[in-house]
Parts: sequence; C-alpha cells; structure tokens
Amino acid sequence: MKPPPFTHHACRSVEEALGLLDADPDGSKVISGGQSLVPMMNLRLASPAHLVDLNPIPGLNGIDVGRGTLTLGATARQHAVERSADVTAAAPLLTAALAHVGHPQIRNRGTVVGSICHADPAAEMPAVFLTLGGEVTAQSAAGTRSIAAEDFFDSYLTTALEPNEIATAVTFNTPNGSSGWHFEEVTRRHGDFAIIGVVALLTLADGRISDARLTIFGGAATPVRLPAVEQLLVGVAAGDVDADLLAQAAREASAALRPGDDIHASGDYRRHVAGVLTARGIRTSLERASARA
Ligand SMILES: Cc1cc2nc3c(=O)[nH]c(=O)nc-3n(C[C@H](O)[C@H](O)[C@H](O)COP(=O)(O)OP(=O)(O)OC[C@H]3O[C@@H](n4cnc5c(N)ncnc54)[C@H](O)[C@@H]3O)c2cc1C
Repeated sequence: MKPPPFTHHACRSVEEALGLLDADPDGSKVISGGQSLVPMMNLRLASPAHLVDLNPIPGLNGIDVGRGTLTLGATARQHAVERSADVTAAAPLLTAALAHVGHPQIRNRGTVVGSICHADPAAEMPAVFLTLGGEVTAQSAAGTRSIAAEDFFDSYLTTALEPNEIATAVTFNTPNGSSGWHFEEVTRRHGDFAIIGVVALLTLADGRISDARLTIFGGAATPVRLPAVEQLLVGVAAGDVDADLLAQAAREASAALRPGDDIHASGDYRRHVAGVLTARGIRTSLERASARA
C-alpha cells in the first residue's frame, strides 16, 4: 500500500522545522528515522500533509556522554548509539536493549529519540528511558522546555509533546558504579516488539539496596514503573534478597498490571510472565551490582 500524498520538507535548521510545524501543527509530522511513521502512513494510520524532515539539519545527531548523563540528539541513529563504546561504558543497559530493537536494517535508520517520541508501549527505548530517568528537550517556536521521563508518556503512542514541538534531544541519567541492571523481553521472534518485558536497575550502598527502578513494558498503554516492588527492595541488605522476597516481588509486579488479551498473548499470560521477569531482573541486577560494589 502507498501513503496518501504529502509534501516533504528537507529542513536545514531547527528554526525552519519549527516554522513549518507552527504553520500547520495538525497537518504536519516530524520525521527522523521514518521506521515507524512511514509504515503507519503506508497503512493509512497516519496521513500528514507535510513531513518535516530533521535529517538534513547539521549537528542534531550528537552522542554526548557527560558526568552522570548521556545526551542523544534527535537524529542520532540507533545503530550509532549501539556501536558507541562511550555509550556502552556509561549505560550498558541501553546498549543491551538496543540489540532487541527490530533488526540491524531498522536500526541503521531509526533513531532513539524517534522511538521515545513514537511511544509504542511494547518498545524497548521508552522503557529504558523511564528506568534510567532523564528528560526530553522539547523545542517550539515559542521556546524550549524540559519534560521529565516520568511525565513524558501519556498513553498508547501519545506523549506530553505538543504537535508544534520537536524533541531536539533526550538526556538519560547514567547509573553510578555500584549499580547493576537487567533487560529481558519475551517475543515470538528476535526483533519483534515485546509481548512483555522488564528493565531493572538496582544500586547498592554499604551492602544495601539504596535505589531500585523497575519498569515493565508491553503490559499497559505506556511502560510502567513498579513502585510497590521498588519499595519492597529499598533498604534491604543484598544478602537478604531470598526466594521469598523474589516471589513477593513477582506477585506485586503481576498485581500492578491489567493487560488485556490480544492475538499475541492473553492478559493472564502477560501478568504471569511480568512477575517471572521481575524476579529475574532483581536477581541479575543484584549480581551485577554486587560484582561492581
Ligand atoms: C520491521 C520493523 C520492526 C521494528 N521492530 C521494532 C522493535 O522491536 N522495537 C522497537 O522499539 N521498534 C521497532 N521498530 C520501530 C523502529 O525502532 C523505529 O525506528 C522507532 O520506533 C521510531 O524511530 P524513528 O526515528 O524511525 O521515528 P519516525 O518513524 O521518524 O517517527 C516516529 C514518530 O515519532 C515522531 N518523532 C520522531 N522524531 C521526533 C522528534 N525528534 N520530535 C518529535 N517527534 C518525533 C514522528 O512524528 C512520528 O510520529 C520496528 C520497525 C520496523 C519497520
């Protein structure tokens, strides 16, 4: 199937792109990698009259590792981020998760920022962003604002971005040396969107869990943190995380979700697997954190 007619605007500056969006916010769409937008246009699920292409804009593809942060520009390709040794050193969780985003051909073109803006609840990058924390830099003709990761995802394919805003960058918080992580998803085939998945990040201080961040994706209209599980873990000595505590965490994770049935899996299956992955996420993150502490 072919998309409906549209006008393609190869922008040379952020200002030019913002002017185009401002002129017709509801009839325009930003395009970065095009790996989600173009399929949606071909399926007639999206029919923008104007495609505002960020790719020709110089300097928008930065990959900048700072002190405790990693900032990715709007056109930084998933492949470039995945292959960056600096990113792997600062945020190995992000590198590990990227290997599960579609296939190498998709990642050659797709962008991390585009994936976060697309906000598919079964996608890997939104869940990693929510787990690490950080902010989206949103620019419009009126100015620039920051949107925290926890305020960014509103619902299925819907974010806090306004139609006349561009996410020019996403900044991730990068974990410190005593943290351990786990990423795991269940899919029918490698490269598919997740039926259900978990991202976990635990930090140790003086032998106890000082920070716990766990996110389930594929189980709701957005990726969801698991505050009940996180509260269960914070303050617990690493050596006290036993089978009973893991089983309780698994029950809490399952109870936090109300996924429906669809052609891929039943809601009950997703809830059960979310619990299993949560327990596994805690165990592996703890092992990694203990090895580094
Ligand atoms: C066969 C196939 C398999 C795939 N498998 C997976 C998978 O397993 N997991 C996964 O997560 N993804 C998967 N994808 C999607 C892929 O990862 C996309 O690259 C990603 O979802 C969107 O990034 P993009 O840069 O291509 O964005 P685009 O397609 O260009 O844009 C997507 C949406 O985000 C908006 N947008 C993009 N950039 C910005 C910006 N800077 N500011 C504001 N709005 C913006 C666009 O307007 C559009 O609405 C798959 C795609 C294909 C074709």
